[in-house]
Amino acid sequence: MVAIRPLNAEWTCHRCGGTGDLLMMDSPGPACLRCVGLDDLEFLPAGDAMLTRRLKARSPRYAVVVRFSKTRGRYERQGLLVEPKALADAR
Ligand SMILES: [Zn+2]
Repeated sequence: MVAIRPLNAEWTCHRCGGTGDLLMMDSPGPACLRCVGLDDLEFLPAGDAMLTRRLKARSPRYAVVVRFSKTRGRYERQGLLVEPKALADAR
């Protein structure tokens, strides 16, 4: 699963009409993390490869957080959204 950190903060969830820091692309349009049931996950910034690997193995649910880089013209990884308990255990 991929969560996008939008460049333009002016977006609207197609399900509840809300907004937020992160969105998931749903087929009809963007959806907020609350509507996709991932709002309880915690953000882990990219950079610690070992911790990231351990979390992917431990967290039953996780999503990769990306942001579009205008200069590079592609999505870049920002980190992971993981279950708070898995993050506490992995640390
Ligand atoms: Zn929503």
